Amino acid sequence: MSPKASVTCLRLILILCGALGAAGQTAPQLSPLTQKYVRVITPRVVLTHVRVIDGTGASAVEDQNVTLLGGKIAAIEKGADVAKADDAMVLDLHGYSVMPGIVGMHNHLFYIALPDLDAHQHYESPVLIPQMTFSAPRLYLAGGVTTMRTTGSVETYADLNLKRDIDAGKIPGPHLDVTGPYLEGTTSIFTQMPHLTSSEQVRATVDYWADMGVTSFKAYMNISRAELKAAIDEVHKRGLKITGHLCSVTFKEAAELGIDDLEHGFSTNTEFDSGKKLDVCTASDGHETLARMDPDGSEAKDLIQTLVSHHVAVTSTLPVSEGEAGPGRPPVRQQMLDAMTPQAREDFFLLRQRLAPKVEEALSWKHELAMERAFVAAGGLLLSGPDPTGSGDVLPGFGDQRGIELLVEAGFTPVQAIQIATLNGATYMGKQNEIGSIAPGKNADLIVIKGDPSRQISDIENVEIVFKDGIGYDTQKLLDSVRGRYGQY
Ligand SMILES: [Zn+2]
Repeated sequence: MSPKASVTCLRLILILCGALGAAGQTAPQLSPLTQKYVRVITPRVVLTHVRVIDGTGASAVEDQNVTLLGGKIAAIEKGADVAKADDAMVLDLHGYSVMPGIVGMHNHLFYIALPDLDAHQHYESPVLIPQMTFSAPRLYLAGGVTTMRTTGSVETYADLNLKRDIDAGKIPGPHLDVTGPYLEGTTSIFTQMPHLTSSEQVRATVDYWADMGVTSFKAYMNISRAELKAAIDEVHKRGLKITGHLCSVTFKEAAELGIDDLEHGFSTNTEFDSGKKLDVCTASDGHETLARMDPDGSEAKDLIQTLVSHHVAVTSTLPVSEGEAGPGRPPVRQQMLDAMTPQAREDFFLLRQRLAPKVEEALSWKHELAMERAFVAAGGLLLSGPDPTGSGDVLPGFGDQRGIELLVEAGFTPVQAIQIATLNGATYMGKQNEIGSIAPGKNADLIVIKGDPSRQISDIENVEIVFKDGIGYDTQKLLDSVRGRYGQY
């Protein structure tokens, strides 16, 4: 079932309706290719009789009219029937909800290929990272992601050029915060990452890519404290932010060095891993520390206090470690399978085998959920992103939705989980005045969902229209366009 559309813009089908902003601001001219995926494009759009989940964590408000004008949210009023007008599209959204577009904070534009993966989950080197420049932006937008951080890039020029093409209206996709190449230390299983050997190299890398237009950075597992410090200082000099998927450096060390964000919740903190040496990654990558950390104990409180007092955000990436939760998870979504190549689908099932988790894994999953709750309760800024890769069973867009469901499993209310995946990301990026919540004056980045995710979070999977800057993209058309592509391009 689709929203009943009263199409009153006479020129709608053949001509782009201009979308001239209230303040004279002009939306980009959409290419014929992008227009293929557009369902609503009038200067004024009225969403009538819709439930509003505003992204601030406030309760949902029933039966509202939301007016979009020139790419901005113009008004939110009590629900009422609206007469047709020549310059507007009126959608009757009884039974639907709107929420802000997702701000995905651990999203990638690549796939991870594991050559010759077998049933024992063995594979051969080198692990490769093919670009998903075609399919990923469409999957993200289809799933309701209107802004995302790439959280580490492999083909950074491709990501930068993609961002320009999306912003120019040439290609459909979300707004991108392009992260520079992974700032990785001397050793790594990833041959496509820079393997940096000195603080000078780190600074030169940051400077080069900041000059090229990168807007964020990410430190990776084998970086040393000295190199991380050099990266943080250089990134901050450029007025940008840096996150880390760390291992050789512990969370507390990184917080004290001034990092802005830490990836994968609390599962990559190696502080109490056995045999932890300064500047060297451990075998358990932090799982041991998390498994033995009592979320109510003094070590956990001390860690959370250190992060909060240093204003370090934490990015929850629950979908990528959901396998640790053991059996009994929901069935695979058919739409996800449809998006993949046959090879990607085969690998997906090999990787998804829900073997009984090791005791340590089950414990670290439980502790992860509790630590995320405790971090937020202590005033920490929790962000969300799925970490879509081929090394898990997580896909762009679908994974962003799953992340919100898993935050609810962690104990957040549905509206809190939605806030974490929307306004919190915007706040981290310093864009909380433009995006991340539904309020007059903000960008018209919002998603139309059948049902009520404020009551039943799985309704978040029923996205039908995704408004980005006031233009409504059709989820089904975007998904149809990438059928059988994810994993190849
Ligand atoms: Zn990642």
